[in-house]
Amino acid sequence: MVIPYKHEPFTDFSVPHHKRAFKAGLEKVESYLNLEYPLIIGGRKISTTETIISTNPAIKEEVIGTVAKATKEHAEKAMQAAEEAFQSWRKSKPEMRADLLFRAAAIVRRRKHEFSALLVKEAGKPWKEADADTAEAIDFMEYYGRQMLLLKDGMPVESRSIEVNRYHYIPLGVGIIISPWNFAFAIMAGMTSAAIVTGNTVLLKPASATPVIAAKFLEVLEEAGLPPGVVNYVPGSGAEVGDYLVDHPKTRFISFTGSRDVGVRIYERAAKVHDGQIWLKRVIAEMGGKDTIIVDSTADLELAAQSIVASSFGFSGQKCSACSRAVILKDVYEQVLERVIALTRQLSVGEATDSSVLMGPVIDQAAFDKINEYIEIGKQEGKLVAGGNADSSRGFFIEPTIFADVAEDARIMKEEIFGPIVAFCKANDFQHAIAIANNTEYGLTGAVLTNNREHIEIAKEDFHVGNLYINRGCTGAIVGYQPFGGFNMSGTDSKAGGPDYLLLHMQAKTISEQF
Ligand code: GLU
Repeated sequence: MVIPYKHEPFTDFSVPHHKRAFKAGLEKVESYLNLEYPLIIGGRKISTTETIISTNPAIKEEVIGTVAKATKEHAEKAMQAAEEAFQSWRKSKPEMRADLLFRAAAIVRRRKHEFSALLVKEAGKPWKEADADTAEAIDFMEYYGRQMLLLKDGMPVESRSIEVNRYHYIPLGVGIIISPWNFAFAIMAGMTSAAIVTGNTVLLKPASATPVIAAKFLEVLEEAGLPPGVVNYVPGSGAEVGDYLVDHPKTRFISFTGSRDVGVRIYERAAKVHDGQIWLKRVIAEMGGKDTIIVDSTADLELAAQSIVASSFGFSGQKCSACSRAVILKDVYEQVLERVIALTRQLSVGEATDSSVLMGPVIDQAAFDKINEYIEIGKQEGKLVAGGNADSSRGFFIEPTIFADVAEDARIMKEEIFGPIVAFCKANDFQHAIAIANNTEYGLTGAVLTNNREHIEIAKEDFHVGNLYINRGCTGAIVGYQPFGGFNMSGTDSKAGGPDYLLLHMQAKTISEQF
């Protein structure tokens, strides 16, 4: 019997030996910086002339690794390898596939701080955030393995005396996994694990900012015994390899996590049936968010302020779940704002050489430029009350930034910024606060801080988000505990880390035998 699922605990860095272990992880990663990582197609390692250079966003000149860059020809070869592997993988035992994930999770757990340290270096994560990212990667493997064990025999259906009816799930085929850089390990590993444990084979195209952690994950899968061709590693440009694979007639499904614009593009392109294609492609998309924390006058205001700061500035706001709008009822507005400003001033920004650094850099030059543009827009739309400065001389650092007195229809209240900026907006009453929160095309996360039961009930019914949190922040969903995914333009209503996520990667077959 497999023991019941429980999420991976987070590391307490106030314990000296945990700190030392994490430092050892950083040293380990430093010992293998700047290596080359080939493509992996059908188990073969292939070097390319063009490459992707992965660098540390905190120290621009530090190269994490040089990664092969796939062309359309490579993508085609990878597609063929995945199709071939699918013929045997689809018939492999679900128990074996689950065991493989359990073993991969065990390998990662044993080297956990090394993987987190790599996230510090490659994604610019503070220790705590990197530790949570690795824990979540472990959780996805443990959880999806167990979910597959629950689903492997299908669901019961009725039979009659002269027949037996069976209803079970079979895999879809070859999937394209296009994963993000913000949870470069967790979401990449989660999307890949869900697809393969259900019997599909995949082409993994990780985000170009964080391809090394994905290459390391491939090493883990190989060590865990994954046969060649089940996961093919094809980093490359979205415009070349991404489009080619999304359009490919043999692609059966696309699993994407990233921006709204890319998600919409994939969804539209996937809808077109190409020559030789005999199915309608399935798209699983997790896109953006414009997430709100509402605080009313009955709330624990200290908890509210802490929740806003943690949700807005954790990983520099680069989470689709991040709080970017604080909607505060007018009678407590000034008090909450003041406390949030005070807590924000205590945040240390810099390279995460220690667990005390709570905010690292943003991911790259493009993000840095875009966020700075929004800081300028914010200055027109509200009152700058904290932060606002940025420095890209060494790494892409932006101060945690707060704009106060922002109108509910301002651009910084509606557009996803994906950076450390939060807008404060005053609401007249609770209904007004909910209306402001819903005034967006997204619907991912939201939180309400209140001790008013009636308000909680209103929020449960009317706050239109996939993940609603009461009396806590709006980030940090845990696999198997708070299945994660949103409504409207936040995606295709899929819930990562939830009990029906695996079903998105399968199709049901009815078999009826008459006697
Ligand atoms: N699952 C993460 C959270 O709850 C966010 C994932 C994302 O940003 O894509 O904070």
